[in-house]
Amino acid sequence: MTNLSRRNLLKLLAGSAITGKIFSGFAMAEPVATKPSGTAATGPFTLPPLPYAPNALEPYIDAETMTLHHDKHHAAYVNNLNKAIAPYPDLQKKSLEELLANLDAVPTEIRTTVRNNAGGHANHSHLWKTLSNPGKKPEGKLAKEIDSTFGNYEKWKEEMTKTAMGIFGSGWAWFARNKEGKLFIKAYPNQDSPLMESATLIYGIDVWEHAYYLKHQNRRADYVKTSLEITTWTS
Ligand code: MN
Repeated sequence: MTNLSRRNLLKLLAGSAITGKIFSGFAMAEPVATKPSGTAATGPFTLPPLPYAPNALEPYIDAETMTLHHDKHHAAYVNNLNKAIAPYPDLQKKSLEELLANLDAVPTEIRTTVRNNAGGHANHSHLWKTLSNPGKKPEGKLAKEIDSTFGNYEKWKEEMTKTAMGIFGSGWAWFARNKEGKLFIKAYPNQDSPLMESATLIYGIDVWEHAYYLKHQNRRADYVKTSLEITTWTS
């Protein structure tokens, strides 16, 4: 086959699902795009790997939920963020914290997309790091601060539960530290994040149904209770 006719044949078959099979034995003169669908858009942000196996939190969180949540939902936030900022080199140099704390500096046409997807990426990246099996109680300085701010750890849990249960639709209950250093618990709609207020994330309960529906169906209360049993502390 001459190079020319092979090129024409390649052109003809480009896009066909069987292209790869037919040519698997050939050393091809030119590459055919074989990028599988769903491949991450290139960009400054990347999906962090889960810090444990998907089944590590069973029976609290099942492996299937964990895999979908991380590999599909979290990945989508990362991809959508990279896509939105692709035409804006200046935005690509910013951190998630910088983007979220200064949404006014993001062009209006992509502001909501950046808010939702940078928020989603930041919230989930933090979430994975603050779950363990079994969970741990806070210790040291943070434990003392929880006692002085909320009464005791049980009261803190009650406040987190009330906040998570009170969210209408999808959102997060966040325990965070504001820029003045004060601890607080607050509900955020959608993928809004305390990072939008330059606060520091400590622990969040993701009350989107994607986080619990396979195991707990509509029983948000069961899931919230579970979330507070596998909380671990990084700050
Ligand atoms: Mn989620």
